[in-house]
Amino acid sequence: MRFTEDFRRRDLVETIASRIAERCKRQWRLMEFCGTHTVSIFRYGLKSLLPEAIHLVSGPGCPVCVTSKSDIDRILALCSLPGAIVATYGDMMKVPGSHFTLTERRAQGADVRIVYSSYDAIQLALDNPDRRVFFVGIGFETTAPSTAAAVLRARELGLGNFKVLSLHKLTPPVIVELLEEDCAVDGFICPGHVCSIIGAKPLEPIARRYSKPCVVAGFEPGDVMQAILMLVCQLEEGRSEVEIEYLRGVTYEGNTNALKMIERVFDVTEAEWRGIGKVDNTGLVLRQEFAEFDASPFLPTHIESKPDPAGCRCGDVLRGQLLPTECPLFGKGCSPESPVGPCMVSSEGSCATYFLYASVKHD
Ligand code: SF4
Repeated sequence: MRFTEDFRRRDLVETIASRIAERCKRQWRLMEFCGTHTVSIFRYGLKSLLPEAIHLVSGPGCPVCVTSKSDIDRILALCSLPGAIVATYGDMMKVPGSHFTLTERRAQGADVRIVYSSYDAIQLALDNPDRRVFFVGIGFETTAPSTAAAVLRARELGLGNFKVLSLHKLTPPVIVELLEEDCAVDGFICPGHVCSIIGAKPLEPIARRYSKPCVVAGFEPGDVMQAILMLVCQLEEGRSEVEIEYLRGVTYEGNTNALKMIERVFDVTEAEWRGIGKVDNTGLVLRQEFAEFDASPFLPTHIESKPDPAGCRCGDVLRGQLLPTECPLFGKGCSPESPVGPCMVSSEGSCATYFLYASVKHD
């Protein structure tokens, strides 16, 4: 099969579902790391096709959800700088910081612009030479190359008013962190878009050292079901390997040009993940060579952040220890219209996805 439409064929999905049922002899708990997979699973009703022995849990693979409150507060601090324009992707606008969201700060007069790419932020800097444009670089390895490209372009253009607050995060080391915390998961459905950049190779330690099979999956229903079948086959046969289901988008080695660009512009550092805490080697900061484009020196030296609201269980949800529906606030005080935690904000947040599709089901 070559075309995306083929991976949406109902007969194909049902055939794979029956093969999963044939092969599955024991209970297996599988984590879909990525929020896009969670959306696919719900949008296409895949859980209803799986045997009861397969338990799917969501992981921390929504970049908005894992952005710490202190990082949101740092973005909000940039909004208060005289003449600043803060450029960010739309999903960030409603994430609660300690006191406000970006939407609220914009209503109070801050100049916050929604951009669709890092190059939109470059254009903003070109159009506003007398003002500083702070671009919020957010996302996993998928979006880091475009931020790196923007930094390289800003250097080419001599665009000194373009600054980046890098909140990019790296995925394989945080999966390792979850396993070190004794995360009760038997195998991982791994993100196809991240692995289109990094390849499948960085997942090897997860499969080898922690004996957790990994299958890199695309996002169509046929992709996700095939990945589950591949995981079930590995688990039932006692294997623990890295396999690629998403062969039309991912190679073992990854996109070497994109990887070189990330390496050229960023250093790897510690990052703070909402609900997980500080994790070594999971963040990207601009290398010293690109310090003139770094937003960090414009931040106050100390920003006081409030703890998460009482009762919010986003941390447990992001670590796969709790289903969103098990949070006492789910649908009772926390909804996409009035989110308490970040997992209810993003369109790929697991709480938002469970809420949306639970509503559809019960209507
Ligand atoms: S339902 Fe709301 S408060 Fe509970 S974990 Fe999800 S986002 Fe956090």
